Amino acid sequence: MKSTLLRRQFLEFFESKSHAIVNSAPIVLKDDPTLMFTNAGMNPFKSYFLGNSTPKETRVTDTQKCLRVSGKHNDLEEVGKDTYHHTMFEMLGNWSFGDYFKKEAIDWAWEFLTDVLEISKDNLYVTIFEGDKADGLQKDTEAYDLWKALVNEDKILLGDKKDNFWEMGDQGPCGPASEIHVDLRSAEEKAKIPGKDLVNRDHPQVVEIWNLVFIQYNRKADGSLESLPAKHIDTGMGFERLCMVMQGKTSNYDTDVFTPLIREIETITGATYGKTEDIDIAIRVISDHIRAVAFAIADGQLPSNTGAGYVIRRILRRAIRYGFTFLDTQTPFIYKLVDVLSKQMGEAFPELISQKNLCENVIHEEEKSFLKTLEQGLGLLDSIVNQSSSKTISGQKAFELYDTFGFPIDLTTLILSEKGYKLDQKGFEEELQKQKQRSKAAAQTSSSDWVVLKTDDQEEFIGYDYTEANVSITKYRKVTSKKEGELYQLVFNLTPFYPEGGGQVGDKGYLETPNGDTVFVIDTKKENNQIIHITKSLPKDLQKDFKAVVDVNQRQRTASNHTATHLLHQALRSILGKHVEQKGSMVHSGYLRFDFSHFSKLTQEELQAIENFVNARIKENLSFEEERNIPYAVAIDKGAIALFGEKYGDTVRFVKFGNSKELCGGTHVENTSQLWHFIIKNEASVASGIRRIEAITSDAAKEFLTKESEVLSQVKSILNQPQDILKSVESLQEENTSLKKEIEQLNVLKLKQVKTELQSQLKDINGIQFLAHQVNLDANAMKDLAFQLGGERNDLFVVLASKQNGKALLACYISKALVESKGWNAGKIIKYLGKHIQGGGGGQAFFATAGGKNPEGISQALAEAKAIVEGK
Ligand code: ATP
Ligand code: MG
Repeated sequence: MKSTLLRRQFLEFFESKSHAIVNSAPIVLKDDPTLMFTNAGMNPFKSYFLGNSTPKETRVTDTQKCLRVSGKHNDLEEVGKDTYHHTMFEMLGNWSFGDYFKKEAIDWAWEFLTDVLEISKDNLYVTIFEGDKADGLQKDTEAYDLWKALVNEDKILLGDKKDNFWEMGDQGPCGPASEIHVDLRSAEEKAKIPGKDLVNRDHPQVVEIWNLVFIQYNRKADGSLESLPAKHIDTGMGFERLCMVMQGKTSNYDTDVFTPLIREIETITGATYGKTEDIDIAIRVISDHIRAVAFAIADGQLPSNTGAGYVIRRILRRAIRYGFTFLDTQTPFIYKLVDVLSKQMGEAFPELISQKNLCENVIHEEEKSFLKTLEQGLGLLDSIVNQSSSKTISGQKAFELYDTFGFPIDLTTLILSEKGYKLDQKGFEEELQKQKQRSKAAAQTSSSDWVVLKTDDQEEFIGYDYTEANVSITKYRKVTSKKEGELYQLVFNLTPFYPEGGGQVGDKGYLETPNGDTVFVIDTKKENNQIIHITKSLPKDLQKDFKAVVDVNQRQRTASNHTATHLLHQALRSILGKHVEQKGSMVHSGYLRFDFSHFSKLTQEELQAIENFVNARIKENLSFEEERNIPYAVAIDKGAIALFGEKYGDTVRFVKFGNSKELCGGTHVENTSQLWHFIIKNEASVASGIRRIEAITSDAAKEFLTKESEVLSQVKSILNQPQDILKSVESLQEENTSLKKEIEQLNVLKLKQVKTELQSQLKDINGIQFLAHQVNLDANAMKDLAFQLGGERNDLFVVLASKQNGKALLACYISKALVESKGWNAGKIIKYLGKHIQGGGGGQAFFATAGGKNPEGISQALAEAKAIVEGK
């Protein structure tokens, strides 16, 4: 059965059980500080399990793009080596939010696998949670009994906390799980070892395909468990593994999810899959990683040097490196796979089609630059080996190569062994641990349990209409981190504070207590669909009502910049073309930053046209029009632009200024005239095919222009208030050029004079014409002079010195004949003399120079030179 059909069949099965089919959420997470990427199907629904928001549908089914490359779930190192773990994979899921529980979850999973897909029951095993003493939990007999009605008891296995108790993190909703495993081995092998002995034992052909999680507890900060009032179902089935089962294969890579990619890799590189272990691993790594990287880029996460971007860069580099070492690929090729991938998966994930060009360009650039790094690293490794006196290379050196240059450690090890060297692996590990410890210590945070003061369903945001409100605190908790110390997070019943999101910074402001005290809100964020106000202390009487006041100045400036990003977006699309897509933005009170796809540097004319376009919209006094909570499809119909990688609900907010129409949750000015003026400060590249514009509006623009005009009037006054300032500066420049010319001519004359004078001062010492003199010329003039003097004789020893801008210069010229007959060397002599001017130098045997920071030492250096010639 084709994978596309199988995906559809799963969704339709649960649709027939009254589940709503929903789209996959983006793979890159935005409002969850504990995770960078979606790593399980439940991530997008976390706020329902936490009770922070109420789902519209209580039964949902989906396929979720997941990435397991960092944090609690990290399969990266396994990927390619085994045949059933991927970095990016799809997790099929069915969900109950306080609706059905264990019975339906188990019955339907079984029905789908054994009735609909007709997988042989003989090949399936199930596990249930055996209980845990420390947690005070009993065996999950409820699940056991439900399974007993469906399968033979010898197929129900017990699992411990590690395998059969699912937790989202250290804290939060959790519960026992029941897994379904499949045994894909031949009858022969099954006869040798029964399948039940291989469940959860990392056997590549006895693998887990589906995990049914029964969320019924909440893990508190002190580690204890409490029962949840509403119980939920969270299931996850690995789509690629299911394809393996249904297509009669024993490796995920032999299914139609991967074969087109593998064929293409074979075509490009000339390698063959299925013959040699090393090459097979490399091909699996590349076919897997291209998916992770392309999906992440399509959802807006570009490779970079920090955070989630760095994780993506490392995945891509792992692929490049496997190609480089095992497939002998010296030039970029991975980007070429995007085409196959987008054709193959574009129907289910259209972002792969619309973002194809961007993916290709970004991956291509990354490949080029990492291949260069590899080349440099190989050179560095060579010199490390050449300089090493022992056959073991220090861990610290290898770590430097790894940390500073991004050179992969396994490659270092491989190359060293090829050269007959060894790496001090332990030393390397120690360095790595030290670094990990450093960053862990810096990032460590701990949060206490929420203290609930009032029960409340959903914290309402009223900040579009109000910047002040009477609020009460519904819950709070303390968060301690090394970086920021002790902070408090407060949740209100309603709030005028805008939480950071959509590129816009969070509101700041204060809470006024009934007795007139104030507690400052230093930032506002959204976490798991809940607005969190961050303060450094707690108000005294937590139960009272407070006045919550947003800093309107900051808000107004931020709003002005946010509106400006919309106008800028419109300007870019109308001036540069419709290919321009927003790729990120940062809206601050002081400035705005807008990243967009475009393939070349903007010209001065384009930038001017963009600025003019936005300023024209400002002049048109366009008023703000919005429609809240309209269906997504209606907004798109009206011409709103949606962003890739953004998670939109069923209903959206539509924001319009004239012909600029966007889906946006941010705050805006009432009228574009409030922007006052728009000024582009900078335009640059952030990645291949992505440009960034930085700009300012309103107060910042005023300040900028005021400063510019102040500078201008200062310049005018320095120039004695000329009529035409430009002309005046131009004529200054002309004057300067002609003066420079004149000086050069004068220098030539001066040099002649000095030369004549010096010639008269030559002294005969032991048959050598000697001169040591301070001339105060620049380095070039001194060299000219020495060569002119030297050109006329062959028995010359000259040392010239000069004091220039507080520094000392020395030059030594020795006729070649003397160099030969006396064995003198100007280079060595100048080094010796250089000590007096606290400097160093060098050169050839007949001419050398030195520079130093101590002009006081010149006379001594000159005296010393004389002593050398006199043979003292
Ligand atoms: P395993 O023990 O095989 O790593 P898991 O216990 O980590 O699996 P869950 O977290 O329960 O898996 O995820 C649910 C399902 O997602 C699994 O049953 C499996 O089918 C699939 N799955 C998990 N991790 C991966 C992965 N790295 N690549 C492909 N599929 C995966
Ligand atoms: Mg796992």
